[in-house]
Amino acid sequence: MDDPDCLFCKILAGTIPSTIVAESELAYAFRDVNPAMPSHVLVIPRRHITDAGTIDAAADSTDLAGVFALARQVVTEEGLDERGYRLVFNVGRDSGNTVPHLHLHVLGGRTMGWPPG
Ligand code: 5GP
Ligand code: ZN
Repeated sequence: MDDPDCLFCKILAGTIPSTIVAESELAYAFRDVNPAMPSHVLVIPRRHITDAGTIDAAADSTDLAGVFALARQVVTEEGLDERGYRLVFNVGRDSGNTVPHLHLHVLGGRTMGWPPG
């Protein structure tokens, strides 16, 4: 396990249960336990990266490509291609970020307001 104290590393290891949506060699997608939208899936790299503010463009590029590729697959499986969706990385206190393992929120299934609250 990359970080034994990290909640999402524990989900990756299977020591904390999750509802899988899709997976690949590089990334894992599972349902948010407290969904904010009809479709709310979290896509995480299997390698521990803390958040979007700590990304190393060179060292992390393969993992990030894996996250976005799996997110595309999730979008299709959730039936969101045509109606649209939102992809969100929260970073830091103002955003409400709570789990320090990079995760892309895939949100959809109803009309969303803009700007966010
Ligand atoms: P953040 O606010 O850090 O961007 O998003 C963290 C997300 O993880 C929240 O939407 C929260 O509901 C979700 N979450 C927190 N703990 C768990 C968990 O144990 N399992 C799952 N499936 N989602 C979780
Ligand atoms: Zn982690």
